[in-house]
Amino acid sequence: MVTRRRFLSVAAAGAAVLKLPRLSAAEFDLVIKGGRVIDPSRKFDQTADVAIKGTNIAAVRPNIGASPAAETIDATGKLVVPGLIDIHTHAGREKEDPGLCLADGVTALVDAGSAGSDAIEDVVAIAKAAPSRMRVLINISKKGVIPEGDLMNLANVDVAATRAAIERHRDVIVGIKARLSKNVAGTNDVPALKLAQQIAKPLNIPIMIHMGQTVSPLPDILAILKPGDIVTHMYAPPPNGIFGENGKLIPAVVDARKRGIWFDFGNGRVDHWTWAIAEHAMQERVMPDTFSTDWGQAARTDQVFNFGTVMSKFLLLGMPLDGVVACATSNAARTFPAFKGLGTIRPGSPADVAVMELRQGSFEFEDNYKGKRTGTQKLVATATVLGGKRI
Ligand SMILES: [Zn+2]
Repeated sequence: MVTRRRFLSVAAAGAAVLKLPRLSAAEFDLVIKGGRVIDPSRKFDQTADVAIKGTNIAAVRPNIGASPAAETIDATGKLVVPGLIDIHTHAGREKEDPGLCLADGVTALVDAGSAGSDAIEDVVAIAKAAPSRMRVLINISKKGVIPEGDLMNLANVDVAATRAAIERHRDVIVGIKARLSKNVAGTNDVPALKLAQQIAKPLNIPIMIHMGQTVSPLPDILAILKPGDIVTHMYAPPPNGIFGENGKLIPAVVDARKRGIWFDFGNGRVDHWTWAIAEHAMQERVMPDTFSTDWGQAARTDQVFNFGTVMSKFLLLGMPLDGVVACATSNAARTFPAFKGLGTIRPGSPADVAVMELRQGSFEFEDNYKGKRTGTQKLVATATVLGGKRI
């Protein structure tokens, strides 16, 4: 028997359901209208409106309706993707850096080892003041990135000071960076990485290594990594690249990927990749888990420019658009626990969104050795929403 109370609650629920189709933009704070929404986190790719209420995504569906009460962004003819996540930048050097990246659609980013324990407070301060979601990797060299090589002198590794810095700033410092190429670490690559792991393992935080042109063989280095660690500059030229002399991925890399170690592109400007290696990797189906820019202010006018340009290089290389978006969003969100829940525009998630144009034309892109390729498509961020607020 249906009691009166039960009847009323069922009736109320029915009314609520009936109300849904009539939700208008007035009930949202911001509506991004008419774009092609690509959300690889749930394999969503269709023309739809994205409605935002407060700091979160409220709805994603076609024809949400217009109202003067809500702010709107017209995304007709554009792509609407989750806010971009750049896991390897040097945006902790100048206080305006995170804002410059934000204008390029990057709503979450990592400064990857610009500073070690000697100067980490400066980078932490920039991260805390950043308008976007910024985290920091502390360089295992207390001196950070230095021209004479961070790790040339193993005495630059101060385990106690590094651990103390991380413990002081657990909310901001999310891992350790170790740059291991010969001109940075000399023969100290393996010993420095072991010291970094001594700190990282008990704290359960990842290490990001910069691979390529190391003194030690890559398998010796990968053997020290644990699941969740990240290898950046994965298309670095030899010696000690990811491909053997037979052109096949070396078994240690196959094994590392199986163990849950992430491989990141890491564009950068010097000695990190060539078109030949990237093209070979595409043929071998060796795709990055994530892209990253290795961005710094010098990169704004040279090779890298911005995250959209880095993504465009992979369109040129033949990666499908949804895969390109995944590497810059949903995949990147899985690397650091601090980014959990980002990289998606699922209703209920934080409203970080990049509106991008997929421009058609003739565009030249460069590798780290002045090699050029001409592509027909370029991704350009035209609007950014961070935590529900239009930037
Ligand atoms: Zn870097």
